[in-house]
Amino acid sequence: CGIVGYVGHRQALDVVLGGLHRMEYRGYDSAGVAVLTQADGLVVERKAGRLANLVSALDDAGHGAFAGTAGMGHTRWATHGAPIDRNSHPHRDTAGRVAVVHNGIIENFAALRAELEDSGVELSSDTDTETAAHLIAREYDHGSTAGDLPASVRAVCRKLDGAFTLVVTHADQPDQVVAARRSSPLVVGVGEGETFVASDVAAFIEHTRDAVELGQDQLVVISRDGYDVTDFHGDPAHGKPFTVDWDL
Ligand code: GLU
Repeated sequence: CGIVGYVGHRQALDVVLGGLHRMEYRGYDSAGVAVLTQADGLVVERKAGRLANLVSALDDAGHGAFAGTAGMGHTRWATHGAPIDRNSHPHRDTAGRVAVVHNGIIENFAALRAELEDSGVELSSDTDTETAAHLIAREYDHGSTAGDLPASVRAVCRKLDGAFTLVVTHADQPDQVVAARRSSPLVVGVGEGETFVASDVAAFIEHTRDAVELGQDQLVVISRDGYDVTDFHGDPAHGKPFTVDWDL
């Protein structure tokens, strides 16, 4: 439902929670965050119910456990799987190194899930989304795209049917966040030494008004220094820059 990703100079957890609050008006049933930390790699917290439930879980864990300047968050509107903790996003691969948040529906998830189960993967949720996390991990570990996160995400996007915005982080890539879209919105926010991705500009307008709308079947890699857009085959592409001019 609502998606936000961040790489920059601030604490990603603060930016991501701020973005999720700004998208609450859209409605949702669960929420979660992932942060790339120096101490513990990729850390995730997610909770069914109000954003306040997630915030109190984060407070209990201590925000220090989430120290890091790259991360992402999600508010879920369940389509596949009940709105319970284990179906909340982010979803991870078995090793917990890849995390994915997703808006939309992966129409061919049942076939992808069966293929994963046949190869011995145990899924831990009832969502369509989790299949993407395992497939991306497999590409990153073994495919012709091994070690290349954007290329791994592109390879998986080419296999997905349906409408989706995906945001992906990998423990091995602490300085980048990758996002992709098909028939579902995705906007980049360009700041000074910080870059955002979101399903809705509301998530980042308190930080920057410089935005770039991604086109159909495009992928973006964001870093502190900016962003890079390709199509799902890796060819260079360009989003559509615009300035957000509405008042907060
Ligand atoms: N289909 C996904 C799920 O049910 C994503 C739903 C959404 O867009 O929030 O988990």
